[in-house]
Amino acid sequence: MSRPITAIIHHEALAHNLAMVRSTVENSQVFAVVKANAYGHRIENVYNAFKTADGFALLDIAEAKKLRALGWEGPIILLEGIFSPQDLFDCTQYNLSFAIHNETQVKWVQQHQYPAQFDVFLKMNSGMNRLGFKPSEYVSTWNQLHLNPAIKSITHMMHFSDADGERLGKPGIHYQLETFEETVKDLPGKRSISNSAAILRYKLHSDYVRSGIVLYGSSPDYPTHTIHDWNLKPTMTLKSELIAIQDLQDHETIGYGSTFTTEAPMKIGIVACGYADGYQRVSPTGTPVLVNGVRTRLIGRVSMDMLAVDVTHISDAQVGSEVVLWGKSSSGTILPIDEVASASGTVGYELMCAVTSRVTFLNQP
Ligand SMILES: *Cc1c(COP(=O)(O)O)cnc(C)c1O
Repeated sequence: MSRPITAIIHHEALAHNLAMVRSTVENSQVFAVVKANAYGHRIENVYNAFKTADGFALLDIAEAKKLRALGWEGPIILLEGIFSPQDLFDCTQYNLSFAIHNETQVKWVQQHQYPAQFDVFLKMNSGMNRLGFKPSEYVSTWNQLHLNPAIKSITHMMHFSDADGERLGKPGIHYQLETFEETVKDLPGKRSISNSAAILRYKLHSDYVRSGIVLYGSSPDYPTHTIHDWNLKPTMTLKSELIAIQDLQDHETIGYGSTFTTEAPMKIGIVACGYADGYQRVSPTGTPVLVNGVRTRLIGRVSMDMLAVDVTHISDAQVGSEVVLWGKSSSGTILPIDEVASASGTVGYELMCAVTSRVTFLNQP
């Protein structure tokens, strides 16, 4: 048998989370964001659950081609747009919509000398200061593109920096939303604004919402709200087994750096999962783990292929016992990825994207 670490992708949970988004913003078209290989789930594992979405959003043309190969004929949008003028040929061949966020991309589109009918998403920088045209440049850029016969439609696009919380004591979307509305108010065209946090926290409708993390069963504003509060289901279980047990006396240490010393006799389980599988090396003693469906904690330093857990209070723990690093145990106990991320000083997004290629992926209905 191969090394027991696996990532199980839960089809029913993916479909449930998408349905939840739909019912929250009923008047919007829902684009499923599948960048970073579907937030680490792998596009081929989520496609069947998401094919009732109105479109897909991602960054990478290779991933867009994969969606076409899987049979998707609907809209696909490239969220960062094209990275070279040659990408425009792929946009035509594979019928990809794309964001335009800077002058260089405008120039590439304007200089494209071939027959084309592009659907573009013109991105406004309404305050996040990452990508997009400032409000003062936005209308003139829109006018320029509007005159180009190769451009079939221009959707107004914007992204929130603070939809998951407050900004200067005010709800984190209003200053950007006001800037956006004021700038586009006299322009025709559809709009695409909301990410997961704006969908859940503000029920913010727009023609095309871009729903990412919420589809993958992680709360965009943890710990303010948990997946339970938002009625989300975990879509990935990172699972392994105990491959050794150590019975220790007090004043013994565990693992590299001897960072943990027992204060009483302890039973320690060694798990076949390490940072080379994508588990964070920085996760400290105390990070939650499930063994045989029972909640316990990580002990000492995570190594490349292994980590240690406290099984002192889990009497049936033995070599071969099930270990859930995040997700759902076979007995039904849930360990939300957000709790593991929070203990590790990061967010669910990063943990799910970090699972490495040596982990076996399995699909579950
Ligand atoms: C990643 C991304 C999203 C999705 O964000 P979530 O917080 O995962 O919902 C939406 N829009 C853009 C432009 C993005 O880059």
